[in-house]
Amino acid sequence: MSAAVLTVKGLGKSFGGVKAVDGIDFDLRAGELLALIGPNGAGKSTTFNMVNGQLRANAGSIRLNGVELIGKPPREIWRLGVGRTFQIAETFASLTVVENVQMALLSHDKHMFSTWRRAADHRLGYALDLLDQVGMRAQADRPCSELAYGDVKRVELAIAMANDPKLLLMDEPTAGMAPKERNALMALTKQLVVERDMAVLFTEHSMDVVFAYADRMIVLARGRLIAQGKPLEIRDHPKVQEVYFGT
Ligand code: ADP
Ligand code: MG
Repeated sequence: MSAAVLTVKGLGKSFGGVKAVDGIDFDLRAGELLALIGPNGAGKSTTFNMVNGQLRANAGSIRLNGVELIGKPPREIWRLGVGRTFQIAETFASLTVVENVQMALLSHDKHMFSTWRRAADHRLGYALDLLDQVGMRAQADRPCSELAYGDVKRVELAIAMANDPKLLLMDEPTAGMAPKERNALMALTKQLVVERDMAVLFTEHSMDVVFAYADRMIVLARGRLIAQGKPLEIRDHPKVQEVYFGT
């Protein structure tokens, strides 16, 4: 089994007297899709936002391939290889599909070129390549405003891939989607995880999606991690039953 990409230890965050996240431990390996679930107020978003640097943790550590992320600004964390998608699709509607991806590449350019033309050409080729990977190359020249919602989410994935993330955070990626679109997006995510040897941490309301696609899951309740394991191990876990069904 590959080494952990993300190692979280004793992670905590309080807001005033409220312990939103209360000392959680988990890790995540390359090639793994890990679902973070729990009822409203459990601490899922707070955990996400500590990993991406939008919130500063009060306690513990978050290591990406051994590098401590706590205290680093979001942009540096992103540069180190933590990508994210958003709950609300975030593309520029007036730009074409490929221009959206080129924009993302521009903001993360690792290369030096002798002329602007060469740089632009390089980005175009790479952008089309990324669109290929998400099945959107044929629609490269359409404005994003014309796309179906499920296709916007695919473009968003291509945008997130522009940073070549080692870890991708997805906050409710399938919210607002019909079951067929959901499955297509999660199947694509799974394929990217395998092909790129990337790790994904996602939150999800639909248990059908979680059980179908997560390799492992962690369950939060009132800021505490109450269970973790493979979906089948979690399904019948007494603490999870209690939190979700009050039994
Ligand atoms: P989830 O995403 O699982 O629904 P959150 O992480 O949003 O949960 O919230 C966890 C707890 O922390 C809740 O009790 C919430 O009210 C509280 N909380 C979250 N963000 C803030 C904030 N910025 N200020 C005060 N309390 C917050
Ligand atoms: Mg939330």
